[in-house]
Amino acid sequence: MDERATGGRQTRVMAAERSRSVGPVILLGSPGAGKGTQAKRIAERFGIPQISTGDILRVNVQRGTELGLKAKDTMARGALVPDELIYDMVADRLRQADCQSGFILDGFPRTPAQAGWLDAFLEHGFFENLHRGVCLPIVIRIDVDYNQLILRLTGRRSCPHCGRIYNVYSQPPKVDEACDCDGSKLVIRNDDREEVIRERLAAYELQTKPVVAYYAQKGRLASVNGDLPVEKVTEEIFGVIEARRRADDRS
Ligand code: AMP
Repeated sequence: MDERATGGRQTRVMAAERSRSVGPVILLGSPGAGKGTQAKRIAERFGIPQISTGDILRVNVQRGTELGLKAKDTMARGALVPDELIYDMVADRLRQADCQSGFILDGFPRTPAQAGWLDAFLEHGFFENLHRGVCLPIVIRIDVDYNQLILRLTGRRSCPHCGRIYNVYSQPPKVDEACDCDGSKLVIRNDDREEVIRERLAAYELQTKPVVAYYAQKGRLASVNGDLPVEKVTEEIFGVIEARRRADDRS
């Protein structure tokens, strides 16, 4: 088929995808499972914002805001920031206009209490563009083998200037320790040091794994194999969102 015709059809499909409500999408998975990477791809495909509680907190720490000052030490230890600080932050973000057709949560909820809070928040009906069915979140867990996770977390490097992410094992820069785009010296995220990684994984096992059970019990959970290549994982995730959206449209 003529490539231009195929390209045109793809563009129309993308535009149609973006004009339909998706509702809340929740990505669950251990630190290093690839939630951030996949969230960006979902955001682009469906035209809804990625809301990463970790990113919002890091910006607050960098700017030295009151929230940042309160969260800084806990984050540096790899433990979870207290719920009261997280709730206000998430509520403020979800009330913004760009969340009206849906949003992707990456890093939230991290405890069953946070999941319960989110259910109550969604029921309050802040989302005028979403019908009731769509307000039920689509919850996707990304499963990754433990040894893979360790390599991903210990190998992660980022450019302090442009934010580009590398991995010394799987996606190294062309020149050791230097950003391909602007040559800046790459840095290790403060909480990607080995002793903190151990704490973060322990916090996941103890506090966040029960969130998986919470959504499984409600019949909202789907799992994808996060050990596959990034594009394959993305395909699986798009498939889950599409199937759930069709089912919610029928109900
Ligand atoms: P992340 O970038 O998602 O790995 O988050 C980095 C750090 O931010 C975590 O280790 C926690 O200290 C904090 N954090 C992020 N999201 C939450 C949350 N939902 N509840 C509590 N703490 C959080």
